[in-house]
Amino acid sequence: MSKVNIYKCDSYNDEDAKPVIDKIIGFYDELKNIKQGTKVVIKANLVSAMAPEKSATTHPSLLKHLTNYLLAKGCSVVIGDSPGGVYTKPYLNAVYNATKMKETNAQLNDNFETVKTTYENAKLLKTFEYTAYLDNADLLINFSKLKTHGMMGMSASVKNLFGTIPGTLKPEYHYRFPKHEDFANMLIDLNTYFKMPINIIDAIDGMEGNGPTAGKSRHIGCILTSSNPYELDYVASKIIGLVPEEVPTIKESITRELCHPDKIELNDDLNKYLVKDYVLIKAHPLFFMDDKKFVGKVANKLFSNKPVCKENKCVGCGKCASVCPMKAIAMVNKKPHIDRSKCIKCYCCQEFCPVGAMQVKSSLVMKVLHRHK
Ligand code: SF4
Ligand code: SF4
Repeated sequence: MSKVNIYKCDSYNDEDAKPVIDKIIGFYDELKNIKQGTKVVIKANLVSAMAPEKSATTHPSLLKHLTNYLLAKGCSVVIGDSPGGVYTKPYLNAVYNATKMKETNAQLNDNFETVKTTYENAKLLKTFEYTAYLDNADLLINFSKLKTHGMMGMSASVKNLFGTIPGTLKPEYHYRFPKHEDFANMLIDLNTYFKMPINIIDAIDGMEGNGPTAGKSRHIGCILTSSNPYELDYVASKIIGLVPEEVPTIKESITRELCHPDKIELNDDLNKYLVKDYVLIKAHPLFFMDDKKFVGKVANKLFSNKPVCKENKCVGCGKCASVCPMKAIAMVNKKPHIDRSKCIKCYCCQEFCPVGAMQVKSSLVMKVLHRHK
């Protein structure tokens, strides 16, 4: 049985945020009894060079309180992530600046080496390459952000570990695992490999709508934590109104007996934290049917969402075409043209569009279904 703790937190102001971080520290023996000299690495969500107010990234205020505690105990603290794009010092410096990571007082990762590994116990991810700074830790902390996500429905604890893969290699993983079920299992393999004992979700302000980068900031008002990232995500998904079993990573973690919904022990009444009318991107369960079979093809056509460019917002930069792992986008007259037969609905184009012009469009059937739910 895992315990998931939810703490009300109204803002990122020190007087609201610090007491909650103190409660989280008190919850974990690993933090309460931490020894001087411990090397702590925090894997934050730094998906893009965006200001904290956009609610795409882990807020620096929360990281600062945790870092200050660890530094006072004589530990070293490194914060890192590898967003999409090149994994280099200049690129990450731009991300650190925009996301205000310098305010955290932690050392910001400046080791841009990568490590190739084999993982025999993985369900799918038998070989992979990850960011080397994670190896230089006695204690790993997964500190994510609660957001909607075009491909996976939501981004929180489990999805955050995709940032252990160097940015330039990420399209390759979409190519290797084009089915959402397989991509979810790949993410779970990353979580079972790194086994981060402390998982925290910044859900004071989350992102709704066209997440994980082009949605709107939405106040949720809490911070969640658990040693079990799958059960933590299960609870977080309910807070924003998702059906947990429709989120691919949660569905697969239940199948793999890593998430036991009936055994989750909560510290508080979940009903106090539920957010009404959170704008979601939902994947329908039928979406996971084999799309090589006739019935799967028809179901996918009827039920699945798809990326669509809002041409009046598009600035013709071509970023979507350059990040598409399937080379499904051609720029025609400075506008993206998507070859639907090649598209695997990974939503990299949506995630990396700098102006939010590429959006996830629900099928008509999905819209009707959701309206009547
Ligand atoms: S068009 Fe977009 S969603 Fe489709 S494969 Fe390319 S990047 Fe992924
Ligand atoms: S990334 Fe966005 S703005 Fe750039 S071409 Fe694609 S849709 Fe247009």
